[in-house]
Amino acid sequence: MTNICYPNKHELLSVEQALLEIRKTIETVNESEHVDLPQALGRVLSESVVSPIDIPSQRTAAMDGYAFAAGDVAAGQAAKLQVIGIAWAGRPFLAQQTPSQCVRIFTGAVVPEFADSVIAQEQIEIDGDTVSLPLDWQPYKNIRAAGSDVKQHEELIAAPKKLTARDLSLLAAAGIEKISVKRKLNIGYFSTGDELVALGEPLAVGQIYDSNRYLLAGLLSDPNHTVSDLGIVADDPLKLEQTFKDAAQHYDVIISTGGASVGDADFVKQTLEKCGQVNFWKLAIKPGKPLAFGKIGSCWFFGLPGNPVAVLVTYEKFVKPGLEQLAGLPARQALRLRVRCDSRLKKSPGRQEYQRGILYQQAGGELAVRLAGQQDSHQLKVASQSNCFIVLNADSTGIDAGEMVTVEPFSAEL
Ligand code: AMP
Ligand code: MG
Repeated sequence: MTNICYPNKHELLSVEQALLEIRKTIETVNESEHVDLPQALGRVLSESVVSPIDIPSQRTAAMDGYAFAAGDVAAGQAAKLQVIGIAWAGRPFLAQQTPSQCVRIFTGAVVPEFADSVIAQEQIEIDGDTVSLPLDWQPYKNIRAAGSDVKQHEELIAAPKKLTARDLSLLAAAGIEKISVKRKLNIGYFSTGDELVALGEPLAVGQIYDSNRYLLAGLLSDPNHTVSDLGIVADDPLKLEQTFKDAAQHYDVIISTGGASVGDADFVKQTLEKCGQVNFWKLAIKPGKPLAFGKIGSCWFFGLPGNPVAVLVTYEKFVKPGLEQLAGLPARQALRLRVRCDSRLKKSPGRQEYQRGILYQQAGGELAVRLAGQQDSHQLKVASQSNCFIVLNADSTGIDAGEMVTVEPFSAEL
């Protein structure tokens, strides 16, 4: 079954339309699991978390100094206070106090009940057990109120969210040991092509090493994924069909590279059509025009182009947002910057282009970009040296050196 979203078969689907199709089709996995905090880094929180306690749970000192009651000292006057004990972090001072007394206190220690002010140790003078306050001492300073970070029953983190190190420390501060996260996605990927050779084998004439599986292994590395390398499949419709059908039983998502175009050895789209459905196929993007997106049973399928740089671009622009949606993350967009471009960029109108660039900081601090090198979609060295995409809209006819362009740094999102 083909569910073509573009009316005429020669028309290419725009990048935006294709992304919209992915976003409106893919539904988030339902299942969740409980994990310990150290295992939760990068996972997708599936239930919002509420704090069982105030953080901090008591009034505590914000710095090392002396805790006293402001009412014991007349405003605008120097005063002398007697030190009657020490409040350590973790070891509160519990004895009673009489007027004009104070307690030596350290950062994080519970402020004794009588005190409402802490003066920093740098501001006082000490002589034996007597502390002299300066004329300009200030009341009610340097005390962190109970709940001044988070109140009991307040929402700590709203789901869904990909958990960061900052989130884990917040959860730990609330004493939370386990949380509920979306289950991991099972992803299988393979390469297609009679010319492909696995690493470790010698190359015969006309053969190339399969680099796409290594690109995909790196791109797919994520705590929300369990990935399986399914190897190389020949350009043979029967073998392809068998692989599709087997993989669809085991995985949430299958990703293939190669064989997605219209050559005589390109069987991916027709096999997908036979085993499942094709949601879209040809896109107005460069590199990466042939990209078959669809479904086999309950398994999502991305048939990426064969050229390695096209794999990089189509993974970032379509597969990644699709996987994030499946994993339960809210839609995000790549961080885009407008910067001056040192290079002249050639482009024919028609397809949105993702040229490989090198974003760098000039001596004055401004960012600028230059083309990383030639832009053919087999050129992995240029891709390896690049650190951003330079994005040129479909109708652009290129730019002259010195003009402003839009860049998307790799791995930076809003
Ligand atoms: P295809 O989409 O199958 O026509 O492949 C387009 C180009 O990408 C051809 O030059 C292929 O040899 C190359 N290619 C396909 N698959 C891979 C792969 N796994 N690793 C490296 N290059 C590939
Ligand atoms: Mg091929």
